[in-house]
Amino acid sequence: MKQKQIFTFRDAEKQVAPAAFSIMLKPAGSACNLDCHYCYYLDKAVQYGGRQAVMDDQLLELCIKQYIRANEVDTVQFCWHGGEPLLLGLDFYRRAMELQRRYADGKRIENTLQTNGTLVDEAWCDLFAANNFLVGLSLDGPGDIHDAFRLTRGGKPTFERVMRTVGMFGRSGVEFNTLSVVNRCCEGRGGEIPLLPRRGAQPLHAVPARRRTRRRQTGTPPSADRPARTRRGAAGRLVGLGRRLRTFPVRCFR
Ligand code: SF4
Repeated sequence: MKQKQIFTFRDAEKQVAPAAFSIMLKPAGSACNLDCHYCYYLDKAVQYGGRQAVMDDQLLELCIKQYIRANEVDTVQFCWHGGEPLLLGLDFYRRAMELQRRYADGKRIENTLQTNGTLVDEAWCDLFAANNFLVGLSLDGPGDIHDAFRLTRGGKPTFERVMRTVGMFGRSGVEFNTLSVVNRCCEGRGGEIPLLPRRGAQPLHAVPARRRTRRRQTGTPPSADRPARTRRGAAGRLVGLGRRLRTFPVRCFR
């Protein structure tokens, strides 16, 4: 008679892969020096009673120590995000790098960071290059599209400033890619974007804008900033362009 097979919890435990996960760290909370038309995140400070919940040194150390320890794999990736994560200043990230080295315990540590690119200077480039950061740069394509949505708190355009950062990254050897919000303004203009791969950028990541933007006190969002007419709309056309160009892959996510 065939023996009945029993699969116990202990058996299951043996089959479980080592814990490997990644978290998105937002050390500056929702604080940002910009006020983009489509930003969904600036208002999050309300959840903390209107104050900005900034990560202090004690929490930074605890977070780094526990995160590395909890990841039972050889490589641990830190993903710094915002708001604008550079608002915390260079010393915060120098401390973070030092803590990562202290608690690495033989593991390889990788860092990625998403920035609006307006606060980057040579010192930031040195830090990114020296610690092999992969930096995501928010850039919405050609200047007129970018500046229609990505403005300072005083309503000033930011495209030129971000392009200066692109130049600095290129000169300093900082590895970076771009993240673009795609909306109706972008339809038919994808071909104006592929300048950046030649300047050292990795693939463009595209995020479709699908909801109505809030009205700003500094003006009314451009009328083109509305949901696309078709299901795929501008994002779909941009993705199509990326597929055709091959050298310019586009990842589309929501
Ligand atoms: S840079 Fe990012 S966080 Fe800051 S306002 Fe723009 S979309 Fe929001």
